Amino acid sequence: MSLAAHGGMRHFWVEGLLAIALTLCVVTAAYATTVFSPSAAPPEPTYAKVVAQVPPPPPPPEFQFGEPVPGHAVNSPFGLRKMSWEKHGRLHHGVDIAAPAGVKVVAVEDGVIVRSGSSPSYGRFVEVKHAGGLTSFYAHLGRIEKAARAGAPVSAGTVIGRIGSSGISTGPHLHFEIRRGETPLNPVAFMGREFATAEDLPLKSAAYYPKKVRVAQASRPPAGKRQTAVKTDGGRVMASLEVGG
Ligand SMILES: [Zn+2]
Repeated sequence: MSLAAHGGMRHFWVEGLLAIALTLCVVTAAYATTVFSPSAAPPEPTYAKVVAQVPPPPPPPEFQFGEPVPGHAVNSPFGLRKMSWEKHGRLHHGVDIAAPAGVKVVAVEDGVIVRSGSSPSYGRFVEVKHAGGLTSFYAHLGRIEKAARAGAPVSAGTVIGRIGSSGISTGPHLHFEIRRGETPLNPVAFMGREFATAEDLPLKSAAYYPKKVRVAQASRPPAGKRQTAVKTDGGRVMASLEVGG
């Protein structure tokens, strides 16, 4: 073997080792690029964007009216009514709900009690002021709850009194009104219903009543049916207009 050939052989081995080393470097770099490079990371999952696009839940309705005597039906409606012992018909400003004496009477919506007391015709009564300029009125109560005093806040469902037959009444029942200002509204248009905003309140339709007078039957005239004195209390006629109401 000549020196030149020997040197050539050595050169071959060096080149071979360099080639292997270079290959290892390239493979390692390629591997690193594949696994760790951010540019090769899997695409961001899309569910994050979908969640962001779900609209927020709608706000709860501003008005949620319950029933003043849950589980008991209206048995005398809102509208023109003539009692059997009366000469002429007149507006029944609310609805009557018959129930046994002592049954709970509850506020139909959140509010503040503005009046509670007694009148010759309505008997024991409670009046509650609500949002939207509305008031609710509960009459002929057998008892007013101690906490149901003027100025006390109430929630829908708060017990304010008990069914009775106080005032001029033919038997145990609640006389229940809803008004906006002095305008009486048909309580049935509100009871058990909810309204998103004050603009959704059925103020026009609930003020309507048929012009025909309905003759109401009562088993016996109330003891105070001859009462004629008229007193007003805060704009509300407190006697003689609610005979038998
Ligand atoms: Zn009535």
